[in-house]
Amino acid sequence: MSDYVAIGIDLGGTNLKVALVYSTGAIVARAAQPVEAGQQPGEIIDAMVTLSRQSLADAHLDDSAVIGVGVGSPGPLSTSRGVIIKAANLVGWENVALRDRLGKILGKSVVLDNDGNAAAFGEYWAGNNHDGHDMVLLTLGTGVGGGVVLGGQVLRGHYENAGEIGHTVVEPRGRACTCGKHGCLEQYASASAVVRRAMEGVETGEASSLKAMDTQGDEITAQTVATLARDGDAWCQQVWEETCFYLAVACINIQHTFNPARVILGGGLSCAGDQLIDGVRKHFSAMSWSLYEDFPQIQLASLGYDAGVIGAAGLAWQRFSSTN
Ligand SMILES: [Zn+2]
Repeated sequence: MSDYVAIGIDLGGTNLKVALVYSTGAIVARAAQPVEAGQQPGEIIDAMVTLSRQSLADAHLDDSAVIGVGVGSPGPLSTSRGVIIKAANLVGWENVALRDRLGKILGKSVVLDNDGNAAAFGEYWAGNNHDGHDMVLLTLGTGVGGGVVLGGQVLRGHYENAGEIGHTVVEPRGRACTCGKHGCLEQYASASAVVRRAMEGVETGEASSLKAMDTQGDEITAQTVATLARDGDAWCQQVWEETCFYLAVACINIQHTFNPARVILGGGLSCAGDQLIDGVRKHFSAMSWSLYEDFPQIQLASLGYDAGVIGAAGLAWQRFSSTN
């Protein structure tokens, strides 16, 4: 199968990424383009086709080398029906039969899955943490994405919406979430939420170097907060500690619900590296039970921004390779 590839497609709110991926998880060719706010499904599907064909041409492969196509997309969606029910951050995307529409144009079998599930499967299948053990991925970016891989399979659930760990509640009656609930993990531990919480404090009088940076017009990211915390800024330290605490709460709940070997942290916030992992482990240890040492390893993700395309392709390999 060495010359065969799966096409992995990662549809995000800001970028559309396509990669051709070998059965080893290695990327052969890739292409990407920005997604504009309000772009309609038809345009995006056309772009998926164009980028796929461009990648094949770049890799000097023809259509017959493609075993299938995997697409990771914001949801909620139905993998079994191949339909995006409503895509967060994509205006006008409701009940889009993406699997069949894309499959018809490309003449290939397509598997559609949630972007969090695709990234989790990518880390499971091709990441450094790969050893076939059960794992949960949390992607800490604009929001908090998640995916659960148990027994080599992505957990989808009866409603096909399992793994939405960003919307598990870590602080009942806590901060309002865009989903309509309160206290979701996403409101504390996404990269965006860290910045938001830090700046809210500055606006209400917390002393921090963030204030001067903001006044100067410097861009403030989660990494800025992490760096200032490391360098002794008391307010940033408090925000960072709280972030690690809430992630540890999520890890405890993941431990008892899924009992995985690993919880893997990826996305923009994970650029803080050991500062994040050490902080989460510290709070996890302080809160964990004493009945049995069934603790997951808390680790950094290894595929970076490629997890989505690699995982989408991996799902296609898992589903379609036996039919070739
Ligand atoms: Zn929520």
